[in-house]
Amino acid sequence: MSNPSLLILPGDGIGPEVMAEVRKIIDWFGTRRGLAFEVSEDLVGGCAYDKHGTPLTDATMAKAQEVDAVLLGAVGGPKYDSLDFSVKPERGLLRLRKEMDLYANLRPAQCFDALADFSSLKHDVVAGLDIMIIRELTSGVYFGEPRGIIKEGNERVGINTQRYTESEIARVARSAFELARKRDNRVCSMEKANVMESGVLWRDVVQEVHDAEYPDVELSHMYADAGAMQLTRWPKQFDVIVTDNLFGDLLSDLAAMLTGSLGMLPSASLGAPMANGRPKALYEPVHGSAPDIAGQGKANPCACILSFAMALRYSFDQGDEATRLEQAVQQVLADGVRTADLMQSAGATPATTSQMGDAVIAALDAGLQA
Ligand code: NAD
Repeated sequence: MSNPSLLILPGDGIGPEVMAEVRKIIDWFGTRRGLAFEVSEDLVGGCAYDKHGTPLTDATMAKAQEVDAVLLGAVGGPKYDSLDFSVKPERGLLRLRKEMDLYANLRPAQCFDALADFSSLKHDVVAGLDIMIIRELTSGVYFGEPRGIIKEGNERVGINTQRYTESEIARVARSAFELARKRDNRVCSMEKANVMESGVLWRDVVQEVHDAEYPDVELSHMYADAGAMQLTRWPKQFDVIVTDNLFGDLLSDLAAMLTGSLGMLPSASLGAPMANGRPKALYEPVHGSAPDIAGQGKANPCACILSFAMALRYSFDQGDEATRLEQAVQQVLADGVRTADLMQSAGATPATTSQMGDAVIAALDAGLQA
C-alpha cells in the first residue's frame, strides 16, 4: 500500500513560517514512528495570485481533490487588499471549501492547563476544557436565496434566507454523532426552534438520525442563545456541539476565546467519505496570515501543529499518535517555552517560531524515551 498523501498549502504571511515547523513534525513521524506521508506542496492565496494571476489554479484544485488530506497555513495580506473580489486570496480558500464540499467544520476548544490563566474566565471554569463545536459550513443563511438589498417604497430592505434541507442537516448530524463516539459520546444540538421553522426542522432531523442510527450516543437539544450563556457559565458540561452555519460561526468563536490565544487554535473541515473511506478534508489554523508579525520569527506554530494532529486523528485514524503530538505541545507549554503571544510577564525572552517547533520535537523524542 502506498503512503497516505498530504497536500501542503502554506499560503501567505506567517503561513510558510508555521508550516515549516509542521514539516519538521511530519518528518519526525516518518522517521520515528514509521508513519510516512507522500507530501506535495503548492500555492494558494496571494502567492498564487502573484505567480498565476489567480488565488488557486485549476491544477492545484484538482490535486486537492485527489489527496487524502490538505493542510493549509493562512492566506491574505494588505498587499492584496485592493484586488478585485474575484481574485482576492480568500477566494482560493473559499473555492477549496466549496468544491471539496466540506460541510462539517470542526473547531475544538481545548484549554491546555499551562494556559488556563490566559482565559478571560476563571481558572476553574476553563482548566482541562475539551469540547468540539461542529458548524455546518456550506448552507444556511450565508448561502440561502433570495438574498440582496432591494428597494421597497422609499426605503431599502436587506434580505438573507435561512434554508436547510433534510439531507444537509442529516449529514452534519452524522458527523457529530460519529465524532462523539470517538470522544465522550455526547452531542448537544443547538438551534432556535422556538422562533425559526428551519430550527424546528433541524431539531427533528437531528433527533431522527439519532434514533435511527446512533441511539447509543447521548443527545440533548438547546436553544442557541441559551447555549451561548451555558458556554460562558460552565463550558465543561459539553462534549460535542452541533449547530448551523450562522450560530456555529458565533458559538465557535466564543468557545475558542475561552481558551486564550489565537496562536493555539486548530480546525478541520470535513466532507463526504471518498472511495478509500477517508473524508474529504482540509486542516488549517484558525488564525490568519498575521502580516503585523510575518517574517520576524514571532509566529506561534502550535495552531498549525495541532491542525496536523487533527489530520492524524480524523483522516488517518491515528488517534494515539495525535494524542502523542498534543501531549508534546502541552509539555512544551508546561516547561515554559512560549512564543511572544503566550507570554504574560514582560522581560522574559520569547521563543522564536522555529525554537517552538524544535521544542515540540524534543518533547516528542522525550516521550518515546519515557
Ligand atoms: P490574524 O489572525 O492574521 O491576526 C490577528 C492578530 O493575532 C494579529 O495581531 C496577529 O499578529 C496575531 N496572530 C495571529 N496568528 C498568530 C500566531 N500564529 N502567532 C502569534 N500571533 C498571531 O487576523 P487579521 O489580522 O484580521 O487578518 C490578517 C490577514 O489574514 C487578512 O488578510 C485576513 O483576510 C487574513 N485571514 C486569513 C484567514 C485564513 O487564511 N484562514 C483567517 C483570518 C484572516
